[in-house]
Amino acid sequence: MQSKLPGDQASIFAEMTGLAVEHNALNLSQGFPGFSPDTKLIDLVSQAMRDGHNQYAPPAGHLRLREKISELIADLRGKTYDPENEINLTVGASEALYVAITAFVHPGDEVIVLKPAFDSYEPTIKLQGATPVTVQLEAPYLQIDWNAVANAVTSKTRMIIINNPHNPSGMVFKDSDLKQLEAIVRDTDILILSDEVYEHMVFDGRVYRSAAYYPGIAERALITASFGKTFHTTGWKMGYCLAPKDLMREFRKVHQNLVFSIHHPTQIALAQYLEEPKHYLGLSKFYQTKRDTFLNALNQSRFTWTPAEGAYFQIMDYSAITDEPAVDFAKRLTREHKLASIPVSVFNVNHRDDHLLRFCFAKKEKDLLKAAEILNSI
Ligand code: PMP
Ligand code: GLN
Repeated sequence: MQSKLPGDQASIFAEMTGLAVEHNALNLSQGFPGFSPDTKLIDLVSQAMRDGHNQYAPPAGHLRLREKISELIADLRGKTYDPENEINLTVGASEALYVAITAFVHPGDEVIVLKPAFDSYEPTIKLQGATPVTVQLEAPYLQIDWNAVANAVTSKTRMIIINNPHNPSGMVFKDSDLKQLEAIVRDTDILILSDEVYEHMVFDGRVYRSAAYYPGIAERALITASFGKTFHTTGWKMGYCLAPKDLMREFRKVHQNLVFSIHHPTQIALAQYLEEPKHYLGLSKFYQTKRDTFLNALNQSRFTWTPAEGAYFQIMDYSAITDEPAVDFAKRLTREHKLASIPVSVFNVNHRDDHLLRFCFAKKEKDLLKAAEILNSI
């Protein structure tokens, strides 16, 4: 049998969570909240089930939910997406990413990916018979070299994938970043896939700018989002994609053949839950407090860091402690110190090792303090 993804291994997220369970370690590796979603949202889902919304939803998604998403994006991002033709619910942002790449990338095409990158982009590109063209950012990955991105563009470039706020670094794109990207794609037919799953988590008063905000990007952009991140429900796998009508038409052809439609009762519940903007507007403050709780408690640590600008990940540099490779050190921390993290090297070009670990701070205060205590002792 010839593998379509030779060399690819099990996801680092599953591996590190598995190791954390095996060693009964505190798990700050895989990104998921260590606390429950709002019981009101859970009640709305079970009510929707009792009310009989248990059969297939429309392929594009429950219309009232698409309308609520359209209102939210218009309010926050300054662009109106037509609920009928420009919004589609998906099985998490993961499905949206897969469909966006599959619908537009042909064999022989090139897709530019900024590294370190979330692990699903490159395998999906390769499955199309296309080539990921990687641009490595310099540690701690808080700046993008747009000249390097411009130099990576060729006549075969079909798409550029960006992730803002960025996993794993916590970087939030600046206005100048998006303007430079806009200039690179002007007068080309390159598409932008903008993965914005952490859009409601930006810290220290930063203004978040979606790809939707820049006309020269939005006209060619597929934007992916996740209710899993926003409402602490990663296990529900609810997401969506925004795109101009002509792109969305192609997106829907793939979505309909992949899953047809997504979990119906949860869509009914989310449409009701989104009536209250406070359910998503407080998220930046909520996670900034968690970031600060974690970092303030690390006052005796030999790890060094630059505070995350957004998302719910903090990168820590351990080069003052050991020169072990990040994968070995992350595993040893899990086994010997009972604290699991993600070695950032796995997301880099050729697994370049900058001696960095990623810690997810979407955890209860007591777990963040316990994690800091462990790190202080190393
Ligand atoms: N993109 C990024 C950058 C992520 O961190 C995640 C989290 N898994 C996803 C996409 C996938 O989101 P979802 O869980 O909604 O499929
Ligand atoms: N997005 C999560 C992370 O970065 C994990 C998602 C997954 O397990 N695929 O940790």
